[in-house]
Amino acid sequence: MAKRTLTGTTLDTIVSLAKRRGFVFQSSEIYGGLSSVWDYGPVGAELKRNVKDAWWKSMVRERDDVVGIEASILMHPDVWVASGHLDNFTDPLVECKDCNKRFRQDQLEGEVCPNCGGAFGEPRQFNLMFKTFMGPVEDDAATVYLRPETAQAMFVNFENVQTTSRKKIPFGIAQIGKSFRNEITPGNFTFRTREFEQMEMEFFCEPGTDDKWHEYWMNFSMEWFKKYGIRGDKLLLRVHEADELPHYSKASADIEYKFPWGWGELETISNRTDFDLKAHSAKSGKDLSYFDDQKKERYVPFVVEPAMGADRSALAFLLDAYDEEGEGKEMRVVLRFHPDIAPFQVAVLPLSKKDTLNSTAQRVHDLLRPHFNTQYDDTQSIGRRYRRQDEIGTPLCVTVDFDTLDDDAVTIRNRDTMEQVRVPIENLEAAIRNQLNEMRADSQG
Ligand SMILES: [Zn+2]
Repeated sequence: MAKRTLTGTTLDTIVSLAKRRGFVFQSSEIYGGLSSVWDYGPVGAELKRNVKDAWWKSMVRERDDVVGIEASILMHPDVWVASGHLDNFTDPLVECKDCNKRFRQDQLEGEVCPNCGGAFGEPRQFNLMFKTFMGPVEDDAATVYLRPETAQAMFVNFENVQTTSRKKIPFGIAQIGKSFRNEITPGNFTFRTREFEQMEMEFFCEPGTDDKWHEYWMNFSMEWFKKYGIRGDKLLLRVHEADELPHYSKASADIEYKFPWGWGELETISNRTDFDLKAHSAKSGKDLSYFDDQKKERYVPFVVEPAMGADRSALAFLLDAYDEEGEGKEMRVVLRFHPDIAPFQVAVLPLSKKDTLNSTAQRVHDLLRPHFNTQYDDTQSIGRRYRRQDEIGTPLCVTVDFDTLDDDAVTIRNRDTMEQVRVPIENLEAAIRNQLNEMRADSQG
């Protein structure tokens, strides 16, 4: 059972757990931190990597019609002219005349500064792209941008990828990578940050089939979150109103998660039409149309894009896994992650630190590590070590005790049921596989 007894938790609880157990730290903390910038610790780095691997597996490795790329963060500045980001990727900014605090005008409720009650100056459009300089000269000619989305690399590489992979339309190009947006008001822990990681896929299809594919990728994305354990009642598909659509989009929907502060988007599935390919054709002078050799017809493909935030998805997995059992001193905090999302799948714990157990425990660890992501822990009492593994969501603990030296068997303890079974070491790998498979089936949201 990965059914949680709690229906939710507070952000403070998760922020404190994240720090205590090594999921997430504030960036540059010894210098007082850098606002809204976060670092993943040893446990969080594994969590986030598992989220990305699960996505890559579902999106690229398990499909014949999607290939992956990994493009550079820096791109030719004309990319952002053609894509419209240079002109249109802006938020309306207002500045308080008294305290000089800046706000996004569209997020303000009143006419005066919420900080001091002062009046605002004239609103202006603030471009969200980070600017930097390439080479030793800091002038306009050397200006480049940190990409605000990974998607453009899939458009400008469309022809290279299509011809080298010999894919025929419909097919997609996926990428995981960092993007940067100079948000006026970041916040809510790792939910909205200026540096973040995206998992995006551009699916190129024949014009006229785009609505069908939009529908398909909305369903696919929703099922993906549920498959990896997010509860269905915490997810919502919200279709955008016409006035919410960005300049490139014909239709768009968000998959939202019920965060402690309210619904927030994890993923946007957009119908970007032929906007981007046409814009890059016009700007670069390179024909990016596609010849359909079955239909004997040339056209510019339409694009449907599922774009997911890796950091906010990792945060949603963390929040959604959180559970408490029992009360007072007996209270147990447990993260009921899906086994493929859990930072570690198996912890190997010698019952005591005595040398007599250590070599056997190390042997068991060496046996398991090629097959599972494992952790070895021989500090503190066994009870505290179980607690720690529960708090980082490790599905199974393998305990090596003094009987092991006689019977060559170990105990597997299950995170969710706390049941313990004795298993001969020679059957251990298979027994762990079975238990993890059961936990996978139980984790469906
Ligand atoms: Zn003010």
